[in-house]
Amino acid sequence: MFASMPAAVNDPEHGFCRDCLAPQKVARRRCEACGSPRVVHHGELYSLSLAHIDCDAFYAAVEKRDRPELRDKPVIIGGGKRGVVSTACYIARIRGVRSAMPMFKALEACPDAIVIKPDMEKYVTVGRQVRAMMQALTPLVEPISIDEAFLDLAGTQKLHGRPPALVLASFARQVEAEIGITVSVGLSYCKFLAKVASDFAKPRGFSVIGEAEAVSFLAGQPVTLIWGVGKAFAATLAQDGIRTIGQLQTMEQDELMRRYGSMGMRLYRLSRGMDDRQVHADHDAKSVSAETTFDTDLATFEDLVPILRALSEKVSARLKKSGIAGRTVVLKLKSADFRIRTRNRQLPDATRLADRIFSTGLDLLRREADGTRYRLIGIGVSDLSDDGRADPPDLVDVGSRKRAMAEGAIDALRAKFGGKAVETGYTFGRGSRGRPPRSDES
Ligand SMILES: [Mg+2]
Repeated sequence: MFASMPAAVNDPEHGFCRDCLAPQKVARRRCEACGSPRVVHHGELYSLSLAHIDCDAFYAAVEKRDRPELRDKPVIIGGGKRGVVSTACYIARIRGVRSAMPMFKALEACPDAIVIKPDMEKYVTVGRQVRAMMQALTPLVEPISIDEAFLDLAGTQKLHGRPPALVLASFARQVEAEIGITVSVGLSYCKFLAKVASDFAKPRGFSVIGEAEAVSFLAGQPVTLIWGVGKAFAATLAQDGIRTIGQLQTMEQDELMRRYGSMGMRLYRLSRGMDDRQVHADHDAKSVSAETTFDTDLATFEDLVPILRALSEKVSARLKKSGIAGRTVVLKLKSADFRIRTRNRQLPDATRLADRIFSTGLDLLRREADGTRYRLIGIGVSDLSDDGRADPPDLVDVGSRKRAMAEGAIDALRAKFGGKAVETGYTFGRGSRGRPPRSDES
C-alpha cells in the first residue's frame, strides 16, 4: 500500500529508488544499486498521475538553509505581535511544539528553541521558485498555499520520457539540490487521497495510495482526515457515534444527506475514495475576486459575514459590468499565522448575482469559522463565461428567483444613486466594520 509497507502486497516489477532513481526488479528493503532504504514499490506506481506536493516545515526549512548552524537545533518561526507558532521544525515538533500554539506554551515544551520572526518576503520568493519548478513539470499546477500544490501529470510521460512517479521523485531531489529544502510527495488518483498521502510520511515522504486499496485504507482512518471535517464537525459526528471513515462507508447517501446536508454528500463520496475534482491551473485573469485584510484579526462567523456580503457585492458588480459570470465560487481565508485556506464550490449554473455568490460563500465560511483567527477574507468566482446563460430563472426555488429580481432592483437604484444608496441587512449599520477597511482586488 504505502512505500513503507511490506513488499509482499506490491508488484515487484514496479519500483524504484528515490535516491538514485534506479529501477528495482525485486521488492527488497534496500536499493539494489545504491543500498538506500528509500525504495518505493506499488502496484499502481506507474499508472497514477495526480500528486500533492508539500514543502516540509517550510518557513523553518528556509531559515535552516540560510543559517546552517541551526540545522540540528529546535527552530520555531513565529512570535512577534501575534504570539503564536507559525511553523516548527521537526526537532521542535518531536518536543511537542505545534503550529498555532501560543509561543509561551511552545517554549514551555521546548525551552531551548530558537525563535525566529517570520520573513514572509523571503518565504514568498522561495515559494515562487518551487512553484516555477513545478510548472516545468506540467501546466496543471494548482497552488493551495505558498508551499503546497496539486499537480496533474496525466499525459506528460511522452514529454518527460518517464512516468509521473519518477518525475516526482526526481523533482524532490532537484528541490533539495537547487533550493535547499525538502518536500513530501503524495501520489494517487484523486486530490483527496493525494493530499492525504503527502501528509502520511513527512518529512521527505513519498507515499502512494492506489485505487485498489483506497477504501480499505480509509476504513481505519478517523473522520477528521476528510476535507472539511474540522474539530466542530468531528464533535457533531462523534455525538452521533461516528468516529472512523469506515463507519461512514456503511451509511447510505440518503441517510448522510438527511443528517448533514451538503456535507453529507461529501462524507459519502470521500469516505469511499470518490473525488472527481480536477486540478485547475491558477490563472489570475480567469477569476474575478475581491479580498480584504483586517486591521485586527477576526474569528467569529458573525464578524466575518458582513464583510463577506460586501465583498460578494463588489465581485457581483464587477461581473455585471463586464458581462461575465462564474460557475465556481471560491472562498479564501488567511489565518493569523499566514496559512491560506481556499474552499471552492461549483454551482449548477454560472452566476453573476451577489446573493448567490454570498450564500455559497456563507456555506463555505460556516465550516471554517472554527475559532481560527483570520487576517484576511476573500471571495471570488472562476470558471468564467459570458453571462448569457447565467442565473436561469429557477422555477423550483421561488425564493431565489425573488431574490434575483430584488437584486436587479437594487442594482438599478445603485446605478442611479451610487453604491451606498442601498444597503442590505447584512451590511446595513455595520459602519466601517461591515465595510472592508482596506481592499485589495485581484
Ligand atoms: Mg508544508
